[in-house]
Amino acid sequence: MDLVFSEDQIERYSRHIILQQVGGEGQKKLLKSSALVIGAGGLGSPALLYLAAAGVGKLGVVDMDTVELSNLQRQIIHRTDDLRRKKVFSAEEAITRLNPDCQVEAISERLTMDNVRDIIRSYDVALDGSDNFPTRFLVADCCRFENIALVSAATLRFEGQLMTMLPGKGNPCYRCYIPEPPPSDLVLNCQEAGVLGAVVGVMGTLQAVEALKILLGLSRLFSHRMLIYDALDGSFRTLKRSPDPNCPLCGDNPSITDLVEYDPHCTIASSRRES
Ligand SMILES: [Zn+2]
Repeated sequence: MDLVFSEDQIERYSRHIILQQVGGEGQKKLLKSSALVIGAGGLGSPALLYLAAAGVGKLGVVDMDTVELSNLQRQIIHRTDDLRRKKVFSAEEAITRLNPDCQVEAISERLTMDNVRDIIRSYDVALDGSDNFPTRFLVADCCRFENIALVSAATLRFEGQLMTMLPGKGNPCYRCYIPEPPPSDLVLNCQEAGVLGAVVGVMGTLQAVEALKILLGLSRLFSHRMLIYDALDGSFRTLKRSPDPNCPLCGDNPSITDLVEYDPHCTIASSRRES
């Protein structure tokens, strides 16, 4: 059945509806669409808030952590009152208060080989805002196998990067860029290296823009380019990306044909679930 806007919805989404590239039809598409956000942290916070404000009909939030005081410098979906609450429930409440049109699925679980496919396949697009390589690879591989578009971003100190992985041959996957997770002792995280909170906000907001473009069917995505933001330098650059014929996942002779799970501590692939 065709969706009919209520008067409140016409007013709420009026700035979208007057855009030629969105219009009433585009807004209805958003209301019928769904997005899964992995991580209700610094990237996930603005991404979730903008997707909710935009009227994306169903938002999934995956995170197993609780809100800590050191999170509030950048994880703007949570409030001081939310300390020690599960992040997914704090995020759910913020989204529902912002836009009652938005239905939330709060998933307070660690993504594993056993649950990731079932979680991801019921969404139109996925946004990765996780903070570790094992999750990034699990999500990226799963999206490729399930033909779900993925918008991935990462930040450190004053820098951020973003890229989109569209399904299908001809579109570079995450492993075309990094074939395997780097050894964990070479990986710096925000806890060790620090990050300017607002830089994370920029990148999470860009993820929301990219996801909305995908849901609206707009072109010129960051699917064959990677965006690099350097806040200290005050610059945005793009690097060209192409499919790698030697890619272990999407290349001509792939060695990875099913999900693999990496140990968060030693980044060694495992074929069974880590306990
Ligand atoms: Zn690839």
